[in-house]
Amino acid sequence: MAQLLDGQKLANIRATKLKKQVDELKKQGVQPFFSVINIGDDISSKIYLKSKKKLATKIGIKQKNFQLDSATSQAELLSLIARLNSESQVNGIMIQLPVPSQINLNEALSLIDPEKDVDCLTPSNVGRLWQGNHFVEPATAHGILALLKHYQIDSSGKHVVIIGRSSIVGKPLAALMLEQDATVSVLHTKTNNLAKYTKEADILVSAAGQLGLITEKMVKDNAIVIDVGINRIGNQIAGDVDFQNVAPKVSYITPVPGGIGPLTVESLMEQVVKLARRKNGR
Ligand code: NDP
Repeated sequence: MAQLLDGQKLANIRATKLKKQVDELKKQGVQPFFSVINIGDDISSKIYLKSKKKLATKIGIKQKNFQLDSATSQAELLSLIARLNSESQVNGIMIQLPVPSQINLNEALSLIDPEKDVDCLTPSNVGRLWQGNHFVEPATAHGILALLKHYQIDSSGKHVVIIGRSSIVGKPLAALMLEQDATVSVLHTKTNNLAKYTKEADILVSAAGQLGLITEKMVKDNAIVIDVGINRIGNQIAGDVDFQNVAPKVSYITPVPGGIGPLTVESLMEQVVKLARRKNGR
């Protein structure tokens, strides 16, 4: 049976360390301040916002949520971003995804000050990420790397297969895994014969958002399986991996819930603190 990669436990450990850093910064007069823009009434977004705020408060980060109407125009959003860019006490800005269809997300992201870009989604920060000279990292990818490191799993030379090519998970994870000297394959809906690739994976990361996508036949013996997917079934959540049947076959596996989810939220707070330190020359 696989060893569980306990993301919740690691998130708690890292949050305690982060709080100490924040306490130290506060003594020096630095208050990390994070602004989150949410447009519309997406239920999952509201749940994520609540969990972010809860952790921010626990760590001592000031988080302000800007709730905008689902009919908010592009101009209104751009004007709010410009305002937050200019407010010196704000050191982190993020746009909660998804956004309504009238919003041009790439244009909005481009306007965020890269020094306040906690999600690492501005064009210059994405460029830095692929150049390997980034000062901020996308939270989910950062959390996955932290989890592997905690369990002393070295990615160097391993074949890492990632399902999903989104800007927030799949692509940045591919960049960070290349930096770790992994051999990386990125799969998506147009990939022919998914199983052909997943069966080759030393480390398999599923970020598709498809309940039960990964079955035991799709993983090789003793693989390491990271399940990023969050699929809602009533008021429960489950991942992309058929945990019950895959776990007996592999060496390590993340649970859902309690795996990458809590680490993502904690990693986001780490980015806020990182940017606050950077801004204040620490
Ligand atoms: P997106 O919908 O933006 O991207 C999903 C990706 O998966 C796309 O690249 C898509 O391919 C690919 N995909 C979907 N279905 C299949 C399939 N059957 N076979 C192969 N590829 C497939 O989602 P996100 O990246 O934002 O999130 C992915 C999942 O991870 C969601 O469940 C989300 O809730 C969860 N998530 C969890 C986080 C956590 O903290 N645990 C953090 C962020 C996200 P294509 O590009 O061709 O459409």
